[in-house]
Amino acid sequence: MSDSTRIPGRRLLHAPGPSPIPDEVLHAMSVQNMDLADPRVDASIAAAEAGLRRLIGTGDSTRVLLFIANGHGVWESVVENLAAPGDAVLVPGTGHFSESWAVLTEALGRRVVRTPWREGHPIDVDAVAAALEADREHAIRAVFAVHTDTASGVTSDLVPLRRVLDTLGHPALLVADAVASMGCEPIDMDARGFDLVIGASQKGLMCPPGLGIVAVNERAMARAAATPAPRFYWDWARRDGAMNYQKFCGTAPLPLLHGLAAALALIEQEGVAVVYARHARLASAVHAAVEGWAEGGALGFVAHEPGTRSVSVTAIEARPGAFEADALRTLAREQFQVAIAGGLGPFRGRVFRIGHLGDHNEAGLLGALAGVECALRRMGVPLGDGIGRAVRRLAA
Ligand SMILES: *Cc1c(COP(=O)(O)O)cnc(C)c1O
Repeated sequence: MSDSTRIPGRRLLHAPGPSPIPDEVLHAMSVQNMDLADPRVDASIAAAEAGLRRLIGTGDSTRVLLFIANGHGVWESVVENLAAPGDAVLVPGTGHFSESWAVLTEALGRRVVRTPWREGHPIDVDAVAAALEADREHAIRAVFAVHTDTASGVTSDLVPLRRVLDTLGHPALLVADAVASMGCEPIDMDARGFDLVIGASQKGLMCPPGLGIVAVNERAMARAAATPAPRFYWDWARRDGAMNYQKFCGTAPLPLLHGLAAALALIEQEGVAVVYARHARLASAVHAAVEGWAEGGALGFVAHEPGTRSVSVTAIEARPGAFEADALRTLAREQFQVAIAGGLGPFRGRVFRIGHLGDHNEAGLLGALAGVECALRRMGVPLGDGIGRAVRRLAA
């Protein structure tokens, strides 16, 4: 960036990923390349794997696999290892993210059974139960469940899905996409009975994009070994071995590994329960602001049920004809230095999203909410008192 475009102060990054990177993580990544036999390489991989196991609540028998990839890459790795071409998987509807995963799965030649999605609502557990019950031959190999749908800001409780599988005695594996929730709220992989959990570096884990995470329990590793799909780079069995060259199917992403190890250490220093409480508190302040703004009649939550509103991201819908969500986003970024996200898929043009996941605090969040409120007021959008409510919520 040239000096003439320098932004004084900081632009507040409130996208639901990529999220801001703590200075400690930036510094940890600023290291010279090392030869791959340098013990520091294996040490950072071991720290990342162990930290992730603790964070998502799983034990040593679960394999934690790291890929040079984004979330879409790990989606693909899950498909390639769990379903052979022609096999079926069940994708419970959560919105844009479940649909994107379903489309990717179909593009790879697998069949997808979908359950319907109702805008602003979590997974329809009854529809999932009906689809699994109808599958008497057990053709469905896995359930691909999105925990937090980042487009709608709705978090689905995935425990009922485990219960349905168990009640029916259905052998499908349960895969939890925790890309938007890992590091933001408890995942509890083993306690909740998830066979796989997937994540990515650039959201609650406060790192740059580029590292995809797949945690695979023993049952799922065995199922993958028996799945005859052609694969190489994504193959989980190949990612075994004493050498980090095997773990990464080639050269390890050194800076990202150092960064992830540092980010996980920050979470543990703060205390994981404290991190989750902070996310809940900041989300509640965003919700208070939206409740205040909504009194003007021009906007409202996408997530209908308050209990399903994500601790990571809040999606806000402009009432028809009230204002252009994308124009708001541009104004907020260019005039008020708050970067928020737009609407995805069916929400394009009518939704904006405020991310509050990862390295955020009260002051930064209030600044971001105030910047959004400034932009809304500049556009002439009728509003109740949002920022005042957020302040009172945090002061309470
Ligand atoms: C961001 C996201 C993805 C996709 O991750 P990319 O890194 O953008 O490919 C998948 N699932 C969820 C829930 C996400 O929030």
